[in-house]
Amino acid sequence: MKDTDKAWLAGLFEGEGCITTGSNCVQIKIVMTDKDVIEKVDILFPSSSGVKQFKNTEGLGNKKLYIWRITKGDYVKKFINIILPWLGKRRKEKALWALEYLSTRPGVGNYYKNKTHCPKGHPYYGDNLYINPSSGGRSCRICLNEHSRKFQANKRKLEKEKLIGSMVTKLEKEKIV
Ligand SMILES: [Zn+2]
Repeated sequence: MKDTDKAWLAGLFEGEGCITTGSNCVQIKIVMTDKDVIEKVDILFPSSSGVKQFKNTEGLGNKKLYIWRITKGDYVKKFINIILPWLGKRRKEKALWALEYLSTRPGVGNYYKNKTHCPKGHPYYGDNLYINPSSGGRSCRICLNEHSRKFQANKRKLEKEKLIGSMVTKLEKEKIV
């Protein structure tokens, strides 16, 4: 993207755009009545759903509102990094906060990567560290073993109960016979 386009996008965003946080996501949107302007935004930085006409236009007379929106984490980060140098103080603070949120929110980025211990406090280190070969996620071996031990114990308990149950049924049947 050319610098002039970046600056244009930043200026437009400053006036017509907003950054909001939803459930564990950051949303960037620009809402406008000028379809050609918002279409230019979507050409410079294409959104996954394209420019949409805003449904709720009550009280706006005949004016149509158009919305351009991005929500995908990495894409939002990319957009913010493009416009960041041209933003004013207030917007820049919000944008930086959004970047921070995107890299530390639970479930993504560095939130889990930065953790050095499992939820029970065992270290993700040395022999205790298990790395899932398919997901790359880290697990604690002490907790994995504990989980497996409980699972096996529970399985044995259920099998024993089932065995006792069938023996009782058998005895009852014999009594009846
Ligand atoms: Zn653990």
